[in-house]
Amino acid sequence: MAREQVTLAKRRVARAVRVGKVTVGGDSPISVQSMTTTKTADVEGTLVQIYSLAAAGAEIVRCTCNSQDAADGLRQIIPRSPVPIVADIHFHVEMALAALEAGVAALRLNPGNLRKPEEIKLVAREAGARGVPIRIGVNAGSLHPDFAKRYGGITAEAMVASALHELELFHEVGFDDVAFSVKASNVALMIAAYRLLAERVDHPLHLGVTEAGPLPGGLIKATAGIATLLAEGIGDTIRYSLTADPVEEARAGRQLLESLGLRERKGLDFIACPSCGRAEIDVVAVATEAQRELEKLGLPLQVAVMGCNVNGPGEAREADIGIAAGKGKGHLFIKGKIVEVVPEARMVEALVEEAQAIMSEGIEARLSKKRR
Ligand code: SF4
Repeated sequence: MAREQVTLAKRRVARAVRVGKVTVGGDSPISVQSMTTTKTADVEGTLVQIYSLAAAGAEIVRCTCNSQDAADGLRQIIPRSPVPIVADIHFHVEMALAALEAGVAALRLNPGNLRKPEEIKLVAREAGARGVPIRIGVNAGSLHPDFAKRYGGITAEAMVASALHELELFHEVGFDDVAFSVKASNVALMIAAYRLLAERVDHPLHLGVTEAGPLPGGLIKATAGIATLLAEGIGDTIRYSLTADPVEEARAGRQLLESLGLRERKGLDFIACPSCGRAEIDVVAVATEAQRELEKLGLPLQVAVMGCNVNGPGEAREADIGIAAGKGKGHLFIKGKIVEVVPEARMVEALVEEAQAIMSEGIEARLSKKRR
């Protein structure tokens, strides 16, 4: 039976901002970002990480630009990077200017850390002259104290007011090539701030829960904030801020967008039941091993492992390939058709073999071959 196609809230219409070859906002797909953890002055090490991030799904990568050495590193990294590079700027106007000189695709300015209006306007003027956009990146943890004072603390209103004040300064020098973020480590605060900002501006929004922490809690926090907003149609680019290898951030970002149907699937979509007293096989062991082996193949397939015949055949039938288990053995399905009965000990192997065969021969060819 065909399943109903469910859609999320209509995406908020944002103006388009070009970050190098990637458009953020407009009708372009929601993009995935991450940030390097290497010293930017370490050109080779940073490039290795950028390539890993790009392979894991990052489409824009941010590097800190906190010293002249870092700016010199950026100058060498940018022409060799597979994705546009954004420079992260705090405190030092000279670093923003040096990053622009180095050829970055965009700047991120933190209004809480770079506060002098004349310096902010100087950066905006220089960015404008080069056609380089700026993300006004407010962070609850470094909110400009004037706004915290005016609004009685670190509130969504205070964060949005700080962001809009920075935009006003930009406007004074005719600069409007802007994206925004209003991140907080408190998920409810972050959601409130983005909702408020989304009503006030038509610029693209970069979503993130800042300092979400290590896995798995960090993933849950970040997903709670980012996914809630995406489901409401808010957000044009996303970053998971995890205390982990940034490759995990890129993977998570990509996977979230694919799970919500906002990006086409590039990798594995693995479905497995949680197991229960009805299970006829060791679901956890089979599913864990199958997922590990299938992830190595990096194929864009939906694969299901189900422990019994309650939901098993239904889910397994919806997937490209699946196992619906019976006692110590299971039915192997391809697109809803039972093609084989496999013993528990051979389930992982059968799924991997079939996944490889489908990718090289195509699903229809596999089905007709298996039916013979
Ligand atoms: S598919 Fe079967 S074994 Fe798995 S959770 Fe559902 S009822 Fe339990």
